[in-house]
Amino acid sequence: MSLRKKPLLSKSRFLAGLQCQLRLWHQCYNRELASEISPAQQAIFDAGQEVGRLATRLYPGGVLIEEGHLQHSEAVQSTLTAMDNSEIPAIFEAAFVCDGVRIRVDILERGEGGRWNLIEVKSAASMKDVYLYDVAVQYEVVRGSGLEIGDAGVLHLNSQYVYDGANLELADLFAFLDLTEPVLALQHELPAKIAELQEMLAVQNPPQIPPSRHCLHPYLCEFWDHCTAEMPEFWIMGLTGIREDKLNELMAMGVEDIRHIPDPFTLTELQERIRTCVVTREDYVAAELEEELTNLEYPVHFLDFETVSPAIPIYPNTSPYQVIPFQWSNHILSQGGDLNHSGFLFGENGDPRESFVQSLLEIMGEGGTIFTYSNYEKRVMSELANCLPQQSDRILATMDRFKDLQALIKRYFYSPKFRGSFSLKSVLPVLVPHMSYGDLVIQEGTHASREYQRLLNSETPPEEKRKIEQALIDYCSYDTLAMVKIREALLERF
Ligand code: SF4
Repeated sequence: MSLRKKPLLSKSRFLAGLQCQLRLWHQCYNRELASEISPAQQAIFDAGQEVGRLATRLYPGGVLIEEGHLQHSEAVQSTLTAMDNSEIPAIFEAAFVCDGVRIRVDILERGEGGRWNLIEVKSAASMKDVYLYDVAVQYEVVRGSGLEIGDAGVLHLNSQYVYDGANLELADLFAFLDLTEPVLALQHELPAKIAELQEMLAVQNPPQIPPSRHCLHPYLCEFWDHCTAEMPEFWIMGLTGIREDKLNELMAMGVEDIRHIPDPFTLTELQERIRTCVVTREDYVAAELEEELTNLEYPVHFLDFETVSPAIPIYPNTSPYQVIPFQWSNHILSQGGDLNHSGFLFGENGDPRESFVQSLLEIMGEGGTIFTYSNYEKRVMSELANCLPQQSDRILATMDRFKDLQALIKRYFYSPKFRGSFSLKSVLPVLVPHMSYGDLVIQEGTHASREYQRLLNSETPPEEKRKIEQALIDYCSYDTLAMVKIREALLERF
């Protein structure tokens, strides 16, 4: 077997390889097969950078290693120079290389007795398993470079922190999770893991790994579209909520297509329904659905929210990632069949919640069924009831009128064309073929959040702001019109 020259591993490549060796292979040799970065992923990257910059302010006098990733050798040299200067208390983006693995440490803090503390900054507000390996591989490389390490861990956002609206207390905004002990416990396995990945990369052919649940955790793999392009129309991943062990069982039997699942094979009630619909090519329609869609109190509302969840709180009395609603859309159906639309978009700087709730309660009035698609709006309302105690009775009374259209569909309707997804974007084109999100500037919620932040940015030109505003209005009102049309389409089945 001919061997390739081993490519260098980086921390992110190592973590990609732990998720899936094929992912690492593609990252090294077939980058062009990756999908474009989605607005949701971009939002996570942006938040990470913003949080990373802020975290460095906790280490005054720290210096940044300026060289980029393509100048790793120079960065290593600059790191050594900075380490030699005892006046420097911390080094940001410190660079190291050892045994074919190169890393940048977010914060390397000068500790006691010649030791160094290794700090990985995360924009998340809680611990994830993958962080352990993230820190462990850095520990291995830094220790292998001859440094003695004191503490090693993750500096993450503290979800309990409440911003007072005036000063960000960085010492409270961040929390340090010391992972030294579990990282030390992992050290014995790391050299073997690193060697395994390096050997895998040295052979000519990619590893044969079929896509499965592992592609989605801890991160959605950027090669998902490529790897799943040849999967059958009714791929077994379309069995909503199928567990990894069940998938593995089916794959071990060579079953990729829902229609080829042997009998008997234990599935959940919903998965069994999906299988029946796929095999018979017929929709499932339960009689109860008609009652649920017609036994309503008028006027009937079709409601949708758009929200932002800033990693670093910007409004008083909010915490990292707290959900802040800034827009609602409501289509109102009268008993006589008239359909009207109203909407709200908070376009000023400042906390939108008070105006949001007041305008919403006004339009909702005292009666009428309120359809939402998923229980997201209910969760947002529940949080608003906590934040705005003077309005909480009215908010809670309004929530009692909510009816989740998605939950009804999940329970009482299925079309094989859903391919296992009950999202509005999947259900709408199946039930209302002339409607689709394709022509809209904004096509999903995370994109709407990002655009809202651009709308509030003082550097965005006024003409651009007007376009963003219109795009947000178009998107949110399309969601609620979609619900109106889905209900109509479902009623046509009776
Ligand atoms: S999509 Fe799945 S199988 Fe393909 S490279 Fe990514 S993780 Fe591996």
